Amino acid sequence: MENKKVAVIGGGLGALSGAIRLARLGFSVQLFEKNPKVGGKVNEVVLENYRFDTGASLLTMPFVIDELFDFAGFKRSDYLDFVSIDPICRYFFSDDSEMDASADKAKMRIAIQQLSPDDVEAYEQFLNYAEQIHTLASEIFMFTPIHEFRKLMKPRHFQTLFRLHQIDPFRTVHQSVSRFFSDPRLIQLFDRYATYNGSDPFQAPATLNIIPYVEYALGGYYIKGGIYRLIDALAAVACGLGVQIHTSAKVEKICHDGKRASGVLVNGEKIEADYVLCGADAIVAHDELIDGHQNRRERLNRLEPSLSGMVFLWGVRAKHPKLAHHNIVFSSDYDAEFEQIFKRQQVPDEPTIYIAITSKADASHAPVDGENWFVLLNMPYLASGQIWEKEKDRMRSVVLDKLKRLGFDIEDRIEVEQIYTPEDFSQLYASNRGSIYGISSNSKTTAFKRIPNRSRILDRLYFAGGSVHPGGGIPLVILSGKMAAALMAEDRGSNLC
Ligand SMILES: Cc1cc2nc3c(=O)[nH]c(=O)nc-3n(C[C@H](O)[C@H](O)[C@H](O)COP(=O)(O)OP(=O)(O)OC[C@H]3O[C@@H](n4cnc5c(N)ncnc54)[C@H](O)[C@@H]3O)c2cc1C
Repeated sequence: MENKKVAVIGGGLGALSGAIRLARLGFSVQLFEKNPKVGGKVNEVVLENYRFDTGASLLTMPFVIDELFDFAGFKRSDYLDFVSIDPICRYFFSDDSEMDASADKAKMRIAIQQLSPDDVEAYEQFLNYAEQIHTLASEIFMFTPIHEFRKLMKPRHFQTLFRLHQIDPFRTVHQSVSRFFSDPRLIQLFDRYATYNGSDPFQAPATLNIIPYVEYALGGYYIKGGIYRLIDALAAVACGLGVQIHTSAKVEKICHDGKRASGVLVNGEKIEADYVLCGADAIVAHDELIDGHQNRRERLNRLEPSLSGMVFLWGVRAKHPKLAHHNIVFSSDYDAEFEQIFKRQQVPDEPTIYIAITSKADASHAPVDGENWFVLLNMPYLASGQIWEKEKDRMRSVVLDKLKRLGFDIEDRIEVEQIYTPEDFSQLYASNRGSIYGISSNSKTTAFKRIPNRSRILDRLYFAGGSVHPGGGIPLVILSGKMAAALMAEDRGSNLC
């Protein structure tokens, strides 16, 4: 078969996953990334003696990465070392109690026993319930391009389609979690998983309880050297398969004749291609890269963006043995936090604080007497009335004060600092209104409303990445690249789906 040409837009994980598969399938692939390096929201920064991952910090479902390496014909262990994290996260509650969450069932039982003895059995029951959702929902919602009617209507999916009510779509995450646990701290802990795909536990369907199952039953991981090593590895695999990666190369337009994509415009030059794979945010692509199709653009802009975030990178000249690799300092009123974020698009008065410190696993990421703190706060997507220059100073003080009350008085120990607001996420990664996980899953129908992997308006145009099916987060965007590549290959004439 002749080598069909593909132009890939963006160098995020979805695009890299798609590019690798397409190259392996015999396509001739060129990838264009507007930034000086690939990786998108999986990024790294070095500030003096401190090294930081600036985006994703926790890896789940690592088998998705293994499968990509296998497909490409490379050995993952030659490139990447996955490190199981235990505890996965240390939780600090507003009543000053703490708990270490672990994928080790026995340890988790003891931790819950110490926090709330009445909830030990509830945890078992909750995991069984979440496993049932996983069993019923994962094949369709994570691994199948659900907008392709013929692929959805496979006999193996009928069991799920007839039992959709058992994936608990009509209750919210919070309502469902509250039915299992009696202790408000455990309710808050399990509610939190809705934020893993940028959603609000008080609105998102309880189907998202699949996420704690994935974490507690399948584990949480770090990549030795930093999460960005994943990008180095995938870029090396892509290059090894002949993908031409162009950085500092912004795609200005997707070329088309109204019906079919025919290439991309980069620096005023048309790059001809038989197919286009867009790994840039699909809503921004419809807004800025695809001329015409106004109705489609308006419809997509009505989809609610996911959470955004505010990130503080702090190189701290002090050691904190009381902190683990991943830590959460909860707000005292989670409901109020999400009310402000999603209903009013306001910066929360009292944010939940996430702290990841990779120097706990990789000593070289900070000086011997220091730590590299990545601090993430949930934030609303961009909306009018927000003044981020002001908010970042306000939030800095709020966070440092709260940490000081907890016994982490770091303000005078901060040696290097970098701050990212939702405006920065929008500019750096061209993400829709600064969202960090694409579209929120705050409605029961989001899975079906999310943008399909094959364009609805142009032939030969496909989408990968967090803004399209199956959604945001490392494993899902890698799967989006798989689905887009498989659909493209199928359209070329080879059946892979
Ligand atoms: C702060 C933060 C924390 C996170 N934590 C986690 C976590 O712990 N675990 C997890 O699994 N996930 C996490 N995520 C989510 C995860 O990082 C993302 O879902 C995933 O990396 C997105 O990949 P993507 O394929 O959508 O591409 P993106 O990362 O969105 O990259 C898109 C790329 O396209 C480029 N681009 C855009 N427009 C153009 C154009 N016109 N021309 C050329 N290039 C263009 C951009 O510059 C960018 O590099 C986090 C994200 C953030 C920001």
